[in-house]
Amino acid sequence: MGTPLEPREEQVEEVLDRLYEEYPDSTISLNYSNRLELLIAVILSAQCTDERVNKVCADLFETYETPEDYANAPQEELAEAINSITYYNNKAKYIRSACADIAEQHDGEVPDTMSELTELAGVGRKTANVVLQHGHDVVEGIVVDTHVQRITRRLAITEEESPKKIEQDLLDVVPEEDWQQFTHLMIDHGRATCTAINPDCGDCVLADVCPSEKADGDVDLASGEAW
Ligand code: SF4
Repeated sequence: MGTPLEPREEQVEEVLDRLYEEYPDSTISLNYSNRLELLIAVILSAQCTDERVNKVCADLFETYETPEDYANAPQEELAEAINSITYYNNKAKYIRSACADIAEQHDGEVPDTMSELTELAGVGRKTANVVLQHGHDVVEGIVVDTHVQRITRRLAITEEESPKKIEQDLLDVVPEEDWQQFTHLMIDHGRATCTAINPDCGDCVLADVCPSEKADGDVDLASGEAW
């Protein structure tokens, strides 16, 4: 079991320093070439791997290009085009509805504010943050996905449980210039080492500052349960 630094700001700084060194090229892993493609890819990526989304989007983006293309596509046709993605029926509905709104209310442009984005179907704060950061260069918050949620709790950076509360908590302790990279570094670390099941603590650069470290720690602070 490692010992987290105090106060939490110091723990965050140390974690960031080490992860920047470990993952120097950390960035978003979805493929897209414009804001609409980014929005569609992020909607599709909920509860699905980026790898699968990229595979599906390679064909999807050839077939549909404009918001009108998606909005006018029959539900069954669009659902069929994305049917290897989790919750494809619902996601097809969200995409058609969001694209109809973009076409009719936003002159065909993906909006650039949190409030307008989160009014679109299928777009929550997490999706909106990704679109703002990577589509518009606007960093208003921290994207809290399942990796960020799990690892920040394991590292005692937060004790909050819901993504919304975790984000608010992180905004107080993560330096603003790191808000965007914080997420990507956590995702890379979550995929490579600090996996949900059986993390590789023996090979983790954060082991000595991680109170969840398995070797002589009893509890996974992400779940609050024994390893
Ligand atoms: S891999 Fe283990 S030591 Fe590293 S951050 Fe995750 S729980 Fe902590």
